[in-house]
Amino acid sequence: MVSNGFLVLKRRETANKLADKLSALRAQLWINNFGDSRGCRYDAGMSADYHQLLDATIQHLEGLKSRGVRHVAVVPETLRSLAQPARAAISSVRPQVAPVAPAPALRTFSPKPVAAPVIAPVEAAPVTPRGLALEPVAKAAAFASLRERAMVCVKCPNLASSRKSVVFGVGNIDAELMFVGEAPGADEDAQGEPFVGAAGQLLTKIITATGLSRADVYIANILKCRPDTPGQTSGNRKPTPAEMATCIPYLHEQIDLIRPKVIVALGGTAVEGLLGKTGITKLRGQWQTYRETPLMPTYHPSYLLRNQSLSEKRRVWEDMLAVMEKLGMPISEKQRNFFTKG
Ligand code: SF4
Repeated sequence: MVSNGFLVLKRRETANKLADKLSALRAQLWINNFGDSRGCRYDAGMSADYHQLLDATIQHLEGLKSRGVRHVAVVPETLRSLAQPARAAISSVRPQVAPVAPAPALRTFSPKPVAAPVIAPVEAAPVTPRGLALEPVAKAAAFASLRERAMVCVKCPNLASSRKSVVFGVGNIDAELMFVGEAPGADEDAQGEPFVGAAGQLLTKIITATGLSRADVYIANILKCRPDTPGQTSGNRKPTPAEMATCIPYLHEQIDLIRPKVIVALGGTAVEGLLGKTGITKLRGQWQTYRETPLMPTYHPSYLLRNQSLSEKRRVWEDMLAVMEKLGMPISEKQRNFFTKG
């Protein structure tokens, strides 16, 4: 049975045996599709999806095998359905499997406990269609799989060679509120976590002022690697449009998996990356929509560090009050009046 991108396996079967059966099935499908047109039962597009699913499953089973797992549980209809990939079945799998590497939720009977299995990612997976929420275990596995992909990403060779870390994101993957910034700076690059430098500390204060903590929200950037500054020993630069376009699919997938109720875009680059709009001064404080999710553009905390005026702090705080209202959070009189007097 395929559910949320997972194969649900319920009857005991050795990992070896199941991997062998799937390998044999893959070989048979190859023959049916390409080796003997008289026996061909599936079209090429369908078989590509099906082979992808098979490959991922076999790879996962072989991983279990190599870790000493000798038995997994499997329901009989799983093998039957694998052997009879009707068009409808394949179609129903596609949107579930596409966003992340299919991670078979195998109930194992190994001598040692085995961590939640995650299969190697499917390359060029599109983002999860909005409207599909994954079960918690599937969501955690999909997020881990996405993170694994990002952590070894070298799509921007100049950034991959200059970075110390890939700064994937931090926080609660079930958060209702998500903050999106621009790109890691030197502190973030060193620590592998977004918003940990001076601007990050100010963001933490803003989050705390709402009554939430960093652990309640999710924080990520448009770019996962620090923009390089060749010839410079310090300073940051804005990501190029090409770098943003290359990296943004990771953020789209993060948002699609987290499914926050509200996104706060911190600064012009975040707004540009998510909405393709420019002009943070005009957009700030005006609700926008990012793929069905309300998005509040506001100033980046680093702007507030450069401009300490009460009026600018108040503007950002008013944006946060609007976010709190949108989320149905309680707001005290004291909170309403922050930054109204010097
Ligand atoms: S910035 Fe993004 S796309 Fe570029 S190498 Fe880093 S993780 Fe990959």
